Amino acid sequence: MTAVTHQPIYDQSNGWQEILPPPAEAQMLIGSVTCDYLVIGGGYSGLAATRRLAELDPEASVVLVDGDRIGNNAAGRCSGFAIDHAHNLRAKSFADAKQVAKDAIAMNRAGLDYLNDTVEANNLDCGWVREGKYHAAASRRGRRMLANFADSLDVIEEDYTKLNADQCAEIFGTDFYIEAVHAPHSYLAQPAALVRGLAASMPGNVTIYENSMVQRVDYGPPHSVHTDRGSVSTPILILATNGFTEGFGFLQKHLIPLITWGSMSRELTPGESERLGGHPSYGIIAAHPAGTSVRRVTAPDNRILVRNIFSFSKRSDFVSRKAWAAKTHRRSFDNRWPQLQDVPFEYSWGGALSLSRNGEPVFGELRSNVYGTVVHNGVGMARGTISGKLLAELIVGQDSELLRQMQAKGRPNRNLPFQNLGVRINARTRRLIAGNEE
Ligand SMILES: Cc1cc2nc3c(=O)[nH]c(=O)nc-3n(C[C@H](O)[C@H](O)[C@H](O)COP(=O)(O)OP(=O)(O)OC[C@H]3O[C@@H](n4cnc5c(N)ncnc54)[C@H](O)[C@@H]3O)c2cc1C
Repeated sequence: MTAVTHQPIYDQSNGWQEILPPPAEAQMLIGSVTCDYLVIGGGYSGLAATRRLAELDPEASVVLVDGDRIGNNAAGRCSGFAIDHAHNLRAKSFADAKQVAKDAIAMNRAGLDYLNDTVEANNLDCGWVREGKYHAAASRRGRRMLANFADSLDVIEEDYTKLNADQCAEIFGTDFYIEAVHAPHSYLAQPAALVRGLAASMPGNVTIYENSMVQRVDYGPPHSVHTDRGSVSTPILILATNGFTEGFGFLQKHLIPLITWGSMSRELTPGESERLGGHPSYGIIAAHPAGTSVRRVTAPDNRILVRNIFSFSKRSDFVSRKAWAAKTHRRSFDNRWPQLQDVPFEYSWGGALSLSRNGEPVFGELRSNVYGTVVHNGVGMARGTISGKLLAELIVGQDSELLRQMQAKGRPNRNLPFQNLGVRINARTRRLIAGNEE
């Protein structure tokens, strides 16, 4: 019997979740249940794996168990950029790097297509909009990074539009940014509404249990999974548990657990909106990867979100850094919108993501009939979704070119000794270099 030692604990501070109407009461796992497939984790990966298994094997029973409410997890705490290509593409002029970048984009777009099809088919009310994303620079260094980014986009024949400082000011309501690149193919969403909607629109052969933290697992098969009040017996177990997968006895010292932080303003009044100006909806990613991401949202709530800072921690209840993160957010907000300095944040929160040292994912069988989909390197909306979908296809034996590409990827390498120290120094250095972009 494996005791699950490392579990997610989140408070009720996630702005995206809190501004929605309260969710219906959770169905908890009570008593003994059997099913054909059990997915643990209701983030992007677990939701996609669950849906796809149910679609491909409609006679089968699929159970999804989550320790929290779906929407209060990292998936619902994220900034809602469902993006097709990463912030810094590594394609310059080498043919292989070019192909790697193109393949990665195709993979992410397959994830976005699956999300988009689900949102449209089920009419999910989650602010899902194909508005693209802005990569914006606020410093000379940022401008150089933006130029490199645009060069990379040229090499891989991706379309984009350049914006000068005046155009940035017109869209963003601030003269903070000096240049931007608009890449048109990404989506924006209200992430908590999206994951709640994905859970609520599952096919009929899916049962979801929330507020049901898995405490122990008896690996088989059949595997026996225990919460405080119930258990599930299953021949096939899928772990879509982000960095918490270590707690299930896998990948120890192979994941780099990080917390990143977001803050959301209270609702802007009509007068404040007028003072702000600019477009009613957009998403900005800083030219430097350690800089600040920004969302402006108008419907149904009129708010601004900022996200920055990475902290190395396995603990999702890493509250000691929250006040410090919120203070940094305040500075980032005031630097951008001095005309809104009197608008307070209503919510500040952290959420967990897991990276690997070599950037490679966890995908496939971890032991007999136990599968994992973990490590989506900060683009979990797209990458987590496609990874979960392809994992389901692997399990039921549906082959595809995309699946073979996913299987051909490397696996996370082992962390270095003192990895936490290395990550902390790296994060601090990157913040210093990011400078004004924060
Ligand atoms: C502030 C912030 C901003 C971000 N912005 C973006 C963004 O704009 N775009 C983007 O693509 N990505 C973004 N990310 C990253 C993104 O949130 C993650 O990559 C994504 O959520 C990973 O999906 P997942 O399904 O692997 O994990 P999660 O979303 O973390 O889901 C894992 C689930 O497993 C459950 N679980 C774990 N252990 C147990 C257990 N023992 N028992 C039961 N359940 C368990 C958890 O409760 C959780 O629901 C951001 C992250 C944060 C924190």
